[in-house]
Amino acid sequence: MEKPEYRDVEAAAARLAGVAHRTPVLTSSEANRRTGAQLFFKCENFQRMGAFKFRGAYNSIAQFTPAQREAGVVTFSSGNHAQAIALAAQLSGIKATILMPEDAPKAKVAATRGYGGEIVTYNRYTEDRDAIGRALARERGMTLIPPYDHPHVIAGQGTAAKELIEACGELDVLVVCLGGGGLLSGSALAAAALAPRCRVIGVEPEAGNDGQQSLRKGEIVHIAAPKTLADGAATTHLGEWTFPIIQRHVADIVTVSDEQLRQAMRFFAERMKMVVEPTGCLAAAAVLSGVIPTAGQKVGMLISGGNVDLPVLAAILNAEGA
Ligand SMILES: *Cc1c(COP(=O)(O)O)cnc(C)c1O
Repeated sequence: MEKPEYRDVEAAAARLAGVAHRTPVLTSSEANRRTGAQLFFKCENFQRMGAFKFRGAYNSIAQFTPAQREAGVVTFSSGNHAQAIALAAQLSGIKATILMPEDAPKAKVAATRGYGGEIVTYNRYTEDRDAIGRALARERGMTLIPPYDHPHVIAGQGTAAKELIEACGELDVLVVCLGGGGLLSGSALAAAALAPRCRVIGVEPEAGNDGQQSLRKGEIVHIAAPKTLADGAATTHLGEWTFPIIQRHVADIVTVSDEQLRQAMRFFAERMKMVVEPTGCLAAAAVLSGVIPTAGQKVGMLISGGNVDLPVLAAILNAEGA
């Protein structure tokens, strides 16, 4: 495989046309007033299966050879990537096997099964998911599509920022949440090509700032699995494919606290009438809380997903302090 470039993002956009939603770009005069900036929210919480991950998953499967299609796709994830692969495989008419921990939330297991994925469970305390995934891929001849560290996944994720910049024109700043870096690296490729003067900033949970450490140190830093409300960004390290792109095109990586994520969730519910999952709030939390100063600037943010268990959402909305 070759390292992804902007033309791969363009090719991904052509594959996704008419399949993925071109999600809305929303504005909020209250958010503009609070920050003194002109803010644009790219709402991937309204994407198919509820998150941008559909883009990378579909872009990957759409490039399978006939032999790969015949054997099917396998992945490991307890979160949005599992649903994205299951849905993309269903739409492409191929089999998907998803490796999930035995104790994965029932709602996520049910959603993945609902899209037609075959679920294989493992014990996350005693078994190595990477090894099981590779063994499944080998035994059944299936192709493993990981959640972020893959050129076709990165190119697919980049289409969201491409649409955002096409919708609102050149930006001064583009703010993107960061887990393993699929979305951030794809977004950075799109921004470098379409808005070369735009500063791209990644946002991580405070508890898991491995990306920030990696950018500062100039090499991929591994951390222990972080405990954070932002479950979609609870990754332990950046990828071999994502890190060089981030190093080249991302100006800075900042962090926000779980409390800042809760405040952003309440802001979205109260002011913009929408449900955003904690991880989906990372970029907006950094901007709305002033961690990234934006006064006088034109700012785009990727709102990455909206899949949150209702009891979790209810508890956060019930708390004081928006
Ligand atoms: C996966 C995910 C992220 C993190 O994306 P990476 O490509 O791993 O950096 C952020 N938000 C949501 C909602 C996700 O599902």
